[in-house]
Amino acid sequence: MEAIQVAVRAASIGIGPCRLLGLLYFVAVMQDRPMSRSVGAHTADPCPRCLVEEVRTGSLVPTAERGAVGYACGRCGHSWSRPVGDDLDVYDIVRADLPERTLYGTVWQVEDDRVQVLDTSSGRLLWVERWRTILY
Ligand SMILES: [Zn+2]
Repeated sequence: MEAIQVAVRAASIGIGPCRLLGLLYFVAVMQDRPMSRSVGAHTADPCPRCLVEEVRTGSLVPTAERGAVGYACGRCGHSWSRPVGDDLDVYDIVRADLPERTLYGTVWQVEDDRVQVLDTSSGRLLWVERWRTILY
């Protein structure tokens, strides 16, 4: 479908140009990550070593400076970590690995250890622990 048709159709259901650009950006970002796939309400990611995809919500590993999130592969036993993001801003697009599901949304408010996210699928605002969020 051509961009202009998408814009006209979006406008007809009340989605303005800014919102539309945001949505298109979100879709493009998501398509850039072909290695991850949906498993129920979660997104599964590949292990950096054996590439087996699993749902891993990670766990907070406090370090001297700032926290890190640790992961372990259930298949090969490899473990790795990522730093907790400290550069989140309002309107950033994030993923949050919640125990019950993988959340995608837009940052609405940032506090020291928690972030309020506008859930893309439900349109609801909810607070999540900062360490669970991953900047897209
Ligand atoms: Zn592995």
